[in-house]
Amino acid sequence: MKLILLGAPGAGKGTQAEILSREYQIPSISTGNILRAAMKNGTPVGLQAKAYVEAGKLVPDDVIIGIIEERLAQPDCANGYILDGVPRTIPQAEAMEAKGIDIDWALSIEVEDQVIVDRMAGRRTCKNCSQTFHIVSNPPKQEDICDFCGGELGIRKDDAPETVLGRLQVYHRETEPLKTFYAQRGKLKTVDNQPSIEATTAAIRAALEN
Ligand code: AMP
Repeated sequence: MKLILLGAPGAGKGTQAEILSREYQIPSISTGNILRAAMKNGTPVGLQAKAYVEAGKLVPDDVIIGIIEERLAQPDCANGYILDGVPRTIPQAEAMEAKGIDIDWALSIEVEDQVIVDRMAGRRTCKNCSQTFHIVSNPPKQEDICDFCGGELGIRKDDAPETVLGRLQVYHRETEPLKTFYAQRGKLKTVDNQPSIEATTAAIRAALEN
């Protein structure tokens, strides 16, 4: 299974990618997580990306293509992968296609903007491993502590309400056209956001099996 998850920031791509990754036993690859780790470690890519990420702007396509090419060359990607947050622009999708990066489906999780804005206010992210939680719909067992690695949870700088609105605009302008791009290739599936994480996973499973 080679899958791209599309959807606005906060649509649940990361959460669903982790669940599907466990189910299908294939890695989930988030360029956002890779960039945040690079920023934390102060690598050249991290230094290059920091200002863009913190302002809720897209990192230049060539940086992203480099990251994704390197990651997909790793042996754990041989049987498939789930791409979370990449491609994010038509030029990224074209570059991936030109490099022979193959996908079975691009699956878009459809969520209304207002739901996203409300949801992002409750998102908490592990400062250590990037796992996300939500204070109401997916709370950690212990307040502000990551269930997975014990790291401290915090609010991502780019989850501040004013930055979220900007990220939504970027999504509609730059990323949403990818739905047409993949529809034209007969590779688009869409799933409406459901009232729970589990119900959304079930809807994704049903879409992929049909
Ligand atoms: P995410 O964790 O997917 O919400 O990504 C967080 C931020 O990382 C985005 O707002 C962008 O600044 C940057 N980013 C992640 N993936 C991409 C991508 N494919 N293209 C450009 N920027 C990206």
